[in-house]
Amino acid sequence: MNISFTQNPNPKQKPASASELKFGTIFTDHMFVMDYEEGRGWYDPRIVPYAPISLDPATMCLHYAQEVFEGMKAYKSPAGELCLFRPEENFKRLNRSSARICIPPLDVDFCIEAVKELVKADSGWMPEWDDTSLYIRPFIIATDKKLGVHPASHYLFMIILSPVGSYYPEGINPVKIYVEDNYVRAVPGGTGFAKAGGNYAGSLLAQQEAAKKGYAQVLWLDGNSHKYIEEVGAMNVFFVIDNEVVTPALTGSILPGITRMSAIEIMRSWGLKVTERAVTVDEIYDAGANGRLKEMFGTGTAAVISPVGELMHSGRQLVINGGKIGEITMKLYNQLTGIQFGKGQDDLGWSVKI
Ligand SMILES: *Cc1c(COP(=O)(O)O)cnc(C)c1O
Repeated sequence: MNISFTQNPNPKQKPASASELKFGTIFTDHMFVMDYEEGRGWYDPRIVPYAPISLDPATMCLHYAQEVFEGMKAYKSPAGELCLFRPEENFKRLNRSSARICIPPLDVDFCIEAVKELVKADSGWMPEWDDTSLYIRPFIIATDKKLGVHPASHYLFMIILSPVGSYYPEGINPVKIYVEDNYVRAVPGGTGFAKAGGNYAGSLLAQQEAAKKGYAQVLWLDGNSHKYIEEVGAMNVFFVIDNEVVTPALTGSILPGITRMSAIEIMRSWGLKVTERAVTVDEIYDAGANGRLKEMFGTGTAAVISPVGELMHSGRQLVINGGKIGEITMKLYNQLTGIQFGKGQDDLGWSVKI
């Protein structure tokens, strides 16, 4: 399929400094759009000027949240090349998310082409300050104009771009996280593994209450027993206990992060023991109390590698590594961003040139 291109006749003012890059608030001059109709398949891929879209008030996604999304980034190497990080993983996951909520699949290779074309069209928006990148947000919405809970027969696939700096105002400084023991994010058999908009709506109240208490994010526990650690709002989590790195196993209610998968591979390549298994809050607090918990960090495309300096669970505070970034966390941050920004050795071929 050929992607048609319509140049934006009114390009916007680009940000003048890194401090203007509040995460996800600035968008570029173009967007990618493609339609789907049952019986016809995906059609009319196009890059057009970034603009609002018009939707009938009865459009299904507005009522029943039949929507999925992805989050990835384009980076600029010191040699000036634009690169993506493991983009096929994002579109394979998009298809898995879609399948869970009855959205038809997309061709992975075509999606990567679409991202490359769009990033090329808006390459002038790639920020060049330290630790900045172009965030890429592909998403699909159900567009049937119809009330009633059924899978739609029309969809819109779009990709938008946003120049970004760090996700948390803290940057690479450790964040404080509230362990949520009242609300839950996902349950076995639910949609937790899918990047589906509805999951995030359900997380907002806990997030808001934690923010009021001074915490950057919520750490979710399992929906059955509220004992097992799952993940943070937009990050998977890792603990360094003694000389072992532990992360909750993917049980269906956790989002299978591409940064998580990459972090596991990198740390194993260093010879570290990395275990995916069930982890309880009690185990973490016990390890903290007897000095065995060395580090905690989160992983995600937006947050990259984010050290966690403090947990709060049922009124009990746990300070990790004196509230400072740990050695493994720092080393992982350097190696991962080295690959992403085309600076370091990329033995595994994860960086894809645009
Ligand atoms: C996107 C996301 C992650 C991180 O996934 P990456 O592929 O590493 O960006 C983790 N948890 C949740 C809930 C997410 O939405």
